[in-house]
Amino acid sequence: MSVSKKYFTKQLTNWHSHTNERSLPWKEEKDPYKIWLSEIILQQTRAEQGLQYYLSFTEKYPSICDLANAKDEDAFRLWQGLGYYNRCKNMLATARYICEQLSGQFPDKYEDILALKGVGAYTAAAIASFAFGLPYAVVDGNVYRVLSRYFGMEDAIDSTEGKRKFAALAHELLDTEDAAAYNQAIMDLGATVCTPKQSKCDECPLQKKCIAFKDQLIHLLPVKEKKMKVQGRFFNFLLFQYQDEIWIERRADTGIWQNLHQFYLIESEYSIVQKILMENPLLINCKSHIISLRFANQYKQRLTHQLIESKFYLVELKDKPDFLKQRGLWIRKEQSDDYAFPKTIVDFLQSFLF
Ligand code: SF4
Repeated sequence: MSVSKKYFTKQLTNWHSHTNERSLPWKEEKDPYKIWLSEIILQQTRAEQGLQYYLSFTEKYPSICDLANAKDEDAFRLWQGLGYYNRCKNMLATARYICEQLSGQFPDKYEDILALKGVGAYTAAAIASFAFGLPYAVVDGNVYRVLSRYFGMEDAIDSTEGKRKFAALAHELLDTEDAAAYNQAIMDLGATVCTPKQSKCDECPLQKKCIAFKDQLIHLLPVKEKKMKVQGRFFNFLLFQYQDEIWIERRADTGIWQNLHQFYLIESEYSIVQKILMENPLLINCKSHIISLRFANQYKQRLTHQLIESKFYLVELKDKPDFLKQRGLWIRKEQSDDYAFPKTIVDFLQSFLF
């Protein structure tokens, strides 16, 4: 191994033992269930945001079989606000598989961990090293950033070749004697020192040999090949109200917000105003049932690949039309707490309706 690589591993692990003060409840945890839970929560979520969710899940479901026996609806409600609901769905499927098929024993081999639903190479390496001390290096956004900057690597982190190179380098640098500490160290350094913006190079243990620091390339690394395309979507939610009841339905099992609840949704190709919405065949056909319809509020929510504009309309009804009975359910307003909704709808309910 080159001097620069040896220096990297030594400096990083020293920093972790003496200086790194980042404290999170799952650090030093050895229970593979809790480690797995924390890693699933942290996929596409910042640690600070995921913290409360981790605490709520481990309190309500202290073991994997407790989670396996949870009602879908209860787990989804606890997950509410984290987004990417597919993660929650896979998490429940995996908990049930481990509890029922493996007698509650979490797999302890890398390949078996990787084969679990919702677990990719990064999560498998994290669980294998943190729970079982196995020599697998984690490679996530933090690791790409630290490695690309320290070694001045300009390979695109989203290209096949770039991914292969970074994975090989990460594996070479791993301290196999204590893979858990090494992995924790590089993730923490990326999260707290070598950050995407305004990295704290003056506090960095790697500064002396860091190429990006020396050549002033910090803001240019890591390199990405493709710019992410963001699709705009336009949701018009009709909140049907009959006396003190409101109508909701469960979303499909695919696409965004899987299995969560929503109001009646009319999606349009572009942002529309109320006058245009009124030309929708649904509203024309059910005109005789409507007492009043008015715009209430609108929100924007950014998902990884989508920017969603949601407009909310309150629709007061004279009766309960048949077409609504067939596809959703009527609940009393105060019962909305018993159902899981996407964040946008939760915000709307909290700020406006009650
Ligand atoms: S010196 Fe700066 S750019 Fe280099 S690894 Fe440390 S924090 Fe990152």
